Amino acid sequence: MKKILNYINGEFKAPTNNEWIDNYNPSNGEVYSLIPNSSSDDIEEAYKAAAKAFPKWSNTTLEYRSKILSNIANLIEENLEEFALAEAIDNGKPLSLAKTIDIPRASSNFQFFAHAITQFSSEAHESVGLNAFNFTLRTPIGVVGCISPWNLPLYLFSWKIAPALAAGNTVVAKPSEVTPMTAYLLGKLCVKAGLPNGVLNIVHGLGHTTGQAIVEHEKIKAISFTGGTATGASIARTAAPMFKKLSLELGGKNPNLIFADCDYDKMLNVTLKSSFANQGQICLCGSRIFVERSIYYKFKTDFIVKTKALKVGYPIDPDTNIGALVSKPHLEKVKSYIDIAETEGGTVLCGGNYVTVEGYENGYYLEPTIIEVKDANCRLNQEEIFGPVVTIMPFDTDEEALALANGVKYGLSSTIWTNNLTRSMQLAKHLHAGIVWINTWLMRDLRTPFGGVKDSGVGREGGVEALRFFTEPKNICIKY
Ligand code: NAD
Repeated sequence: MKKILNYINGEFKAPTNNEWIDNYNPSNGEVYSLIPNSSSDDIEEAYKAAAKAFPKWSNTTLEYRSKILSNIANLIEENLEEFALAEAIDNGKPLSLAKTIDIPRASSNFQFFAHAITQFSSEAHESVGLNAFNFTLRTPIGVVGCISPWNLPLYLFSWKIAPALAAGNTVVAKPSEVTPMTAYLLGKLCVKAGLPNGVLNIVHGLGHTTGQAIVEHEKIKAISFTGGTATGASIARTAAPMFKKLSLELGGKNPNLIFADCDYDKMLNVTLKSSFANQGQICLCGSRIFVERSIYYKFKTDFIVKTKALKVGYPIDPDTNIGALVSKPHLEKVKSYIDIAETEGGTVLCGGNYVTVEGYENGYYLEPTIIEVKDANCRLNQEEIFGPVVTIMPFDTDEEALALANGVKYGLSSTIWTNNLTRSMQLAKHLHAGIVWINTWLMRDLRTPFGGVKDSGVGREGGVEALRFFTEPKNICIKY
């Protein structure tokens, strides 16, 4: 059985306790590799390697750092096929998606921050009339922790690591134990790219042990975390008394507001994606769909037809639209929401069943599911399901649409479909969300701030925000 190894101080190592965790292939339900069940001893070793590497790495020129990050980006691109296949097998996502979105974006994350760090600047303030001059010195924090989830494995792992390294920090990182493979492969590329030993350390293991050991480590001064809201709250509880810098990118239950005056065909096609891309396992998916009543029936009819036409299948097949869900427990959790639909006052309009894929009968497949709900406060409409399940509901006025959109504890992203500029801007301003897409979805410019409000998190990453997070600003005041 293939063993994934920790990458510590430039070397690939078994965990010190020699304990291993099964890694499942979601497309057939079989264990296909083992991953380290790392303990706090491995985190300590990774920390020591990172701490040793920090003085030199933080003093390298920006050109040097930029070149190394660029090398990593290029190597990911050169190994696109291998990485995409590994991601599809590990996660269950369609290979076509891994090839066109996940892996290219992981490469772009490194390329973007390779360039961004060379343009990063800080402020200067003249204290006029006082003969004094201030400038802000931004220095790297030291050893930082990066913890990422399973839904977009390399995409989100690299989204944290790249700015952390670019800013001059050294890193102890943990990918999700559910999807460790591409992070392991990344370690190999880092060696080839010439990343000095200890600058990046990738330690595999469970959240409540390995992840917790990173958060609890008193000398790891900043944590960038992406994952569930409950985990984020637990991390905040641990980190707060230690005064760590925290960036928490958490769950979502994003509204998709569809108005009668929108470009209907475009809206319908994009809504299909925003509902079911990556089996609905994207924190930005529009899982609550609200439609203006005058087009509600037409939308409902057309959306059902399009959803039924999506092919659920083996992730590697080129014509698969919906692959396998990431794990058996997650599949069962998603299905349990469908099963409570009726008691919650919902009607399953299409989907709702497990799918048996020939040749892969033990895989974790589920039909894309649309549930019509009457009460916006029902659990289906309030809780993050994080699977191929959306709720739909009509509305009558802009005010009602806004209240429905904001009526959850989350506030990550929102989508508005309308050709009325005034309406779109008024809604955009008042929506509880870190990101508002108008007449599009998941269009990402890496320079923009990324993050959520309310229970969707604290802090922003992306572009200059990430470089700010991964540096400490210091005011230097000179009197002359
Ligand atoms: P999760 O919270 O279970 O795990 C995320 C990571 O945290 C994993 O690496 C896990 O091992 C680790 N972890 C778990 N417990 C920990 C602890 N006590 N201390 C330290 N680390 C710990 O989330 P998941 O199930 O992997 O991912 C799905 C969730 O992630 C969804 O809620 C989704 O909305 C969210 N998500 C958010 C964003 C965003 O940008 N806001 C992006 C993607 C996913």
